[in-house]
This record gives sequence, C-alpha cells and structure tokens, in this order.
Amino acid sequence: MQIPDPLLDSLEGIKGYNRPAFEEIHASGRQITSIRLNPAKPLTQFPHAYMSSLRSTAIPWTRYGHYLSERPSFTFDPLFHAGCYYVQEASSMFLEQAIVQTTDLARPLRVLDLCAAPGGKSTHLQSLLSKSSLLVSNEVIRTRVNILKDNIIKWGSSNVVVTHNDPRDFAKLEDYFDIIVVDAPCSGSGLFRREPEAMEEWSLDNVALCSQRQQRILADAWPALKNGGLLVYSTCSYSKEEDEAIADWVMNSLSADTQQLKVEQEWNVVEVQGDSGAYGYRFWPDKLAGEGFFIACFRKTDGGDAPTLKSKSRSTPVNKKDIPLLQKWLSSDDRYFLQREQTVYAWPQELEQDYNWLLNNLRVIYSGTILGELMRDKLVPDHALAMSGILSGTVERTPLNYDEAVAYLQRKDLKQGTASKGWQLVVFDEHPLGWINALPNRINNYYPKELRILKEKPE
Ligand code: SAM
Repeated sequence: MQIPDPLLDSLEGIKGYNRPAFEEIHASGRQITSIRLNPAKPLTQFPHAYMSSLRSTAIPWTRYGHYLSERPSFTFDPLFHAGCYYVQEASSMFLEQAIVQTTDLARPLRVLDLCAAPGGKSTHLQSLLSKSSLLVSNEVIRTRVNILKDNIIKWGSSNVVVTHNDPRDFAKLEDYFDIIVVDAPCSGSGLFRREPEAMEEWSLDNVALCSQRQQRILADAWPALKNGGLLVYSTCSYSKEEDEAIADWVMNSLSADTQQLKVEQEWNVVEVQGDSGAYGYRFWPDKLAGEGFFIACFRKTDGGDAPTLKSKSRSTPVNKKDIPLLQKWLSSDDRYFLQREQTVYAWPQELEQDYNWLLNNLRVIYSGTILGELMRDKLVPDHALAMSGILSGTVERTPLNYDEAVAYLQRKDLKQGTASKGWQLVVFDEHPLGWINALPNRINNYYPKELRILKEKPE
C-alpha cells in the first residue's frame, strides 16, 4: 500500500517531517503493541503470567503505559476482561502530560471528554482524576456509545457520566467544565502504519472537511469551559489543516492562551508552533515508538465562573428501608441511591447535585454504578457492580483457575462446586470477572451475554 503522494507533498516543511524516514517506517510494516495499566486494579506482578513470555518496557510519558514485545491474544487474558488494563496506542497516552503539567489534580474537577468512544482517553482520565472529580464521557455516534459505556464500566470508576449528545448540546452547560478534551474525528493518517487500508479512504478534500468539522466541534464546546479552564485538542492526523491550523484558529477565534508543555529530549516528541504562536506537539512514527499524533493545550481567558446548578426535576431516591440492604454490598457509605423502576444506581454523594443537573440537561446513557435490580427485598447484582471499585470486600468470592476463567467468560456452565450457595463473585488472580449464582443443583453463569468471548481458544 502506497502513502498518497498528495499527503506526502503536503507535509513538506512541517517541523520533524523527514520524507524518506517516514516512508521507510510505513513500508517496514513494523507494529507496536502497548497497554495502559489500571491503577485501581493493580496486578500483583507485571507482566503477569499470561504475558510472561513477553518483554515489557515503560512508555516514558506516562506512569501507566507499557510497550509489549509482541501482541498477545488479549481476548484470552481474563485480566483484560477484568479491566486491569486497556490496549491503547502509545502516543495518545501523552494526554497524561497535558493534564498533569497544567492542572492541580488534587482539586475536584469537572472534566468533559467530548469525543470519547471507545474510551481510551476517558479511562486514562479516570486514572488521573481524584475520586471527588467528575468525568462526562460523551459520544455523538449512537453505534459507538455502548462500547464506550462497557469500557467505562470495566474500568470500575463510579464518578463518570456517559452521555450521547451532539457537541452543540454542551453550549447550554455554560462555564461548567474545568477541562474539556476534544480528541477530534480526523482524516486518520496517523494510523496508516497500523491500518494501511485506511490510505484508500484518504483525500485532501476529506482533510478540508475534517478541519471544518473540528472548528465546529470546538466552537460548540467552548462556552461550556469556564474562565481559566483547560482545552486539550488532539488528532491522529499529520495534516497541518487539522493540527497547527486548528491551534491557530483557536487562538484567533476564541479567547485562549497557548500552553507550552515540557518534553524531555529523549522522548523525541517534536514541539511545533503555529503562526499565532500556539504550541503543539507532534508524534512522528519514525522518531519514536508510537503512531502519528498531535496535541495542543489552551487556557480560556474569558467566560465566567462555574454556574449555580438548578435542576427542574430530581432523580427518585430509593426507599429508605432498602438502604441497609444495598449498603451491605458496598465498601463505603458515601453513596446516594436512586431507583428507576427496579434498577438501582449508586452515585457519589458529593456529586448528586451535578448528576441530577446533567440528567436534566443531557442525554445520559449511564451514571455512577448500576448496583442491580431490587426484587422482593433482594438485590440481583449487576455486572457493573462486580467491576466497580465500590464493591464490598466481604462479598463472597470464588477463585477460578485459568481454564475455568476462560470458560466463565465464554458463558459456559461451570462444573466445579462452590462452598456456599447464592450470589458470588468469580475472581481470577483476585480480580472480579463477574457473578455466578450457586443453586443447590447447578451454578448459573451471569456473565453478560453481549460481552462473552465468542471464539474457542486455539490449542
Ligand atoms: N477519544 C477516543 C479514545 O481515546 O478512545 C477516540 C476518539 S476518535 C479519535 C473520535 C470520536 O469522535 C469518534 O468516537 C467519533 O465517533 C466521534 N465523532 C465523529 N463525528 C463527530 C462529531 N461531529 N462531533 C463529535 N464527535 C464526533
């Protein structure tokens, strides 16, 4: 597959572009595999047994990222399904530098990830934000919202609200967010090495269309950022029209200051500046171990302070008598419980007002943690509770070995007996995989059907 000449020509003159090296790295077909560990679900050792034949090397611009010497079959690693790590491209983990270098993370923050599916940046943000912070993770394309929701649930945090809105819907959340991340839809040239087929779709016209759309998305979201708030803009495109030109557009059209970041020389990240003086950071695959990526940060210099939150309607709290029953499943008593029909959600108490306000203003797909269904004074626990960090350590656990864990994730019948009956968590290497219900004569596997492994493990 040949990189389109108009793309190669259009990159001439951009800092860091070296045409022969750029062409060579694409022709080599060399692939990079990287993962980001979940600090909320720490592995007792890494690489863990499943990856013990692989070498891992730390990605230098993130605390949690690692390169792997080969790509294992993640599907057959139970700890992947337990949410212990996320498979993510290395350059894009530089988001961490954009956040940690510009932000006091000890403060409670309201953060919007505007273009969030499938959830790479959102799960990374969750690992950086304090427990009292709030992340709104949004995806406009309907068919991509569910994968986002599943990944958010698997990561296990409960201070996230998943929404399905057009960027323009956020304009009414005036001055609300401390940080907005726009990981914009783009022409995708930065991923050509990984997906050479995408070269066929590429055109200069599409670059121009993407550039206009990126401006529209930023203009739509801008009112929702408060005065002094941080905008992080990124793409996986090499084209200036989607990178430096957008950074210049932000500086010229919105009231924004550029934010320079510190990059270590040995990272080989290239600092660029647009005509407006806006700083940006380019990732060239021939200079570092990662795909093509661009990121720039801005500070908003107008707008107001965070608004007073007034909600027309409130969610329905659970009946007081049910609270002790729910509380038994949880590790702390700092939750607000609400009920929709039989489904019970737990929200962080301190974010109740925010969650209600968001429910009043956005199309909310998921919020906090679903605990389960209340049926005849009993809770039928939900998979989200098994994955979450708020689950009580006293809930009964049944350890599975590797083969049993894979069979469980394939939703097969479990053969081995359990010491006691009723709802139990099945765990692998101490990490919850999901629920079983042990009845007197059989064990029911409650792993969600839509998440099950469909393949058989190759011998
Ligand atoms: N941030 C994600 C991650 O790290 O996993 C990747 C996001 S991807 C680069 C861009 C996202 O923007 C896609 O999920 C796409 O569906 C969404 N998108 C497409 N058109 C959009 C639009 N007009 N406004 C906002 N988002 C859009």
